[in-house]
Amino acid sequence: MLSVIQGDITKLSVDAIVNAANTSLLGGGGVDGAIHRAAGPELLAECRTLHGCQTGDAKLTGGYRLPARFVIHTVGPVWHGGKNREPELLASCYRRVLEIATQHNLNSIAFPNISTGIYGFPKELACTIALETVRTFSSQQKTSVSEIIFACFDEENYRLYQQKLAN
Ligand code: ADP
Repeated sequence: MLSVIQGDITKLSVDAIVNAANTSLLGGGGVDGAIHRAAGPELLAECRTLHGCQTGDAKLTGGYRLPARFVIHTVGPVWHGGKNREPELLASCYRRVLEIATQHNLNSIAFPNISTGIYGFPKELACTIALETVRTFSSQQKTSVSEIIFACFDEENYRLYQQKLAN
């Protein structure tokens, strides 16, 4: 089941929330900063043991002081005009998160709007890629994930997801 909410992803009691991290996995601004603040310093300590993450890939940690049990950190592409495999790398983020969630037998996952903040990915295209990728994954792969929430922070993303989910 796919759903959309507007609000702060750090408040959600799901099996895993997804972090739009950077390749260092050592924290940053936007949703990454909010997740580290809410989870507490133990999250950064675990992230230090992971030695970073490549763009388009994902890694799982505990959720510590978050209501979510786990955080799946993924690194979206920085938008450089669209000719540097940005769409393919963004799709890979959604797919890798779902693969890792499936490996850990997780049921409920909440995604932020990866790459659409500081990384500058056009929001409408990012929304289309997110929905297509999770729908394709859910229909083609055997997965434990039965509930996917798109946690939109800004009004523009929230409207886009509501519109596109209705179709
Ligand atoms: P990126 O570097 O991947 O663009 P950002 O954190 O800058 O990551 O932005 C990704 C998305 O996360 C943006 O749509 C931004 O509005 C949103 N965001 C920021 N803070 C939160 C939060 N606490 N919960 C959910 N989404 C958030």
